[in-house]
Amino acid sequence: MLEIKNLHAQLEDGSRQILRGISLTVPAGQVHAIMGPNGSGKSTTSYILAGRDGYEVTQGTATLDGRDLLSMEPEERAAAGLFLAFQYPVEIPGVGNMTFLRTAVNAQRKARGEAELSSGDFLKVVRERARALHIDADMLKRPVNVGFSGGEKKRNEILQMAMLEPRMCILDETDSGLDVDAMRLVAEGVNALRSPDRSFLVITHYQRLLDHIRPDVVHIMADGRIVRSGGPELALEVERNGYAGILGEAADA
Ligand code: ADP
Ligand code: MG
Ligand code: MG
Repeated sequence: MLEIKNLHAQLEDGSRQILRGISLTVPAGQVHAIMGPNGSGKSTTSYILAGRDGYEVTQGTATLDGRDLLSMEPEERAAAGLFLAFQYPVEIPGVGNMTFLRTAVNAQRKARGEAELSSGDFLKVVRERARALHIDADMLKRPVNVGFSGGEKKRNEILQMAMLEPRMCILDETDSGLDVDAMRLVAEGVNALRSPDRSFLVITHYQRLLDHIRPDVVHIMADGRIVRSGGPELALEVERNGYAGILGEAADA
């Protein structure tokens, strides 16, 4: 499904190399986690997959279902089934949350050649999925993320994800700033969306989230490279020993 090969990237102005050869394959139905110290290039990887400005890919490829992501516009990537939940969700004053969701869902249906949902059908689905995430009616009416608490913003992103039904979901530090209850809700939302034809890349600085979202594979990233991959036990090793042990071994190798 998602296949990244030897990805190298730098800041657009060429002043700094950030990714130094990332290779990663996430098969359909799997959840992969990326962990790593601050500044290792985790967010940059997700930005490049999303098509954010400011970075230049100098080498390597990234494909989703065999299609070249890097040559697509950001909205084409979304239509192809890529969804990104960012570390800092944006606030959109003046646009009601429900209106935003409906526009996004219908734009995506259109791009896939499907008919728009009627307002009745849309309301039914959004209310049902919001309820499952403990998002109340008031939050659906308010402007997108404006004045939302950290936990509310994250739950709202999971709601966006639930509504868009993407094939490949990337969550960049969706757990940062969350209390334990909010984190559990986010994890439950993700777990509810797990399916044989949907994959997840969960980027996290801490092991905590992975107690609730059990990954198939854990990758450790440092200095723009994946230095080790393994099972869920790798996350526990990081929790126990910090990154130093793993990074030391990688340096020796
Ligand atoms: P992580 O998410 O793993 O903490 P990032 O991908 O955010 O790491 O950043 C990787 C490195 O690239 C960091 O050293 C960061 O300071 C640098 N970096 C990323 N984006 C920019 C930018 N727009 N301008 C300057 N430095 C950047
Ligand atoms: Mg960071
Ligand atoms: Mg980051």
